[in-house]
Amino acid sequence: MLIIGSHVSFNKETQLLGSLEEALSYGANTFMFYTGAPQNTMRYPIDDRLTWKALEKMKQTDVDYRNVIVHAPYIINLGNTDPDKYAFSIRFLQEELERCEQLGVRYLVLHPGSHVGNGMESGIRAIGSALNQLLVGKENKVMILLETMAGKGTEVGSKFEELKAIMDQVEEQDRIGVCMDTCHMHDAGYHTEDIDSLLAEFDQVIGLDKLHCIHVNDSKNPFASHKDRHENIGFGDLGFEQILSYCYHPKLENIPKILETPYIDHTYPPYRYEIAMIRSKKFDPELKEKIIAN
Ligand code: FE
Ligand code: FE
Ligand code: ZN
Repeated sequence: MLIIGSHVSFNKETQLLGSLEEALSYGANTFMFYTGAPQNTMRYPIDDRLTWKALEKMKQTDVDYRNVIVHAPYIINLGNTDPDKYAFSIRFLQEELERCEQLGVRYLVLHPGSHVGNGMESGIRAIGSALNQLLVGKENKVMILLETMAGKGTEVGSKFEELKAIMDQVEEQDRIGVCMDTCHMHDAGYHTEDIDSLLAEFDQVIGLDKLHCIHVNDSKNPFASHKDRHENIGFGDLGFEQILSYCYHPKLENIPKILETPYIDHTYPPYRYEIAMIRSKKFDPELKEKIIAN
């Protein structure tokens, strides 16, 4: 069965229950959320009653909680060795892992970080060391999924080898994995159109058993542009058939697919329509107009 959902909101008042209801309104059977605003680290305490209600409600739906994902805020940077910033990122992520544990979420997606001019080697070392500080000797069971990046600025992780070099340092191998992002891989210079070769390369460098989430996004920019601007499904440089190939590849069957495509006119969430389009395997070139008209 296709496991598909999108980024949804998570707010102070309704928390996981609100996120679940939003996901269900899109016809999704999984979802991903930030535990607060993605661009800051302001976080509210988790309300266990709301978590409990959400878990109860899920039992009546085809959402399997084991496929739900949390995304860490993107201002966290484990690659910056400035002592204050490094300590802050580690402390925040520690709390984020605890929040995930409290929410019962298994996977935390993380942008590995940026080396901010200190070089790839330095970035990789800093990130690996931070991950060990976060994971070694902790009770927590949450798995951190490093995301494949577009290679914007000094980002670490736009090559599978960089992710592998980080992962090799981690002493808790069962708590580290990868989240592929189709837009990012395309922007990074991977030939995403040749999915079999791409998966073979990933398997050889990292291992497909380490892959636990896929962000399915189209891209506004050409191959190897290192830009990272997502486009709606079928409207970008990857195109509909390519996106479908990631949704339906037999080797990726049990892996949750998450849409992080932009709102139409910055106002209307496209996910209900995009999920329906992916399920029906039929591209609708008038999708954006229809969403606005509704
Ligand atoms: Fe991301
Ligand atoms: Fe992503
Ligand atoms: Zn992105």
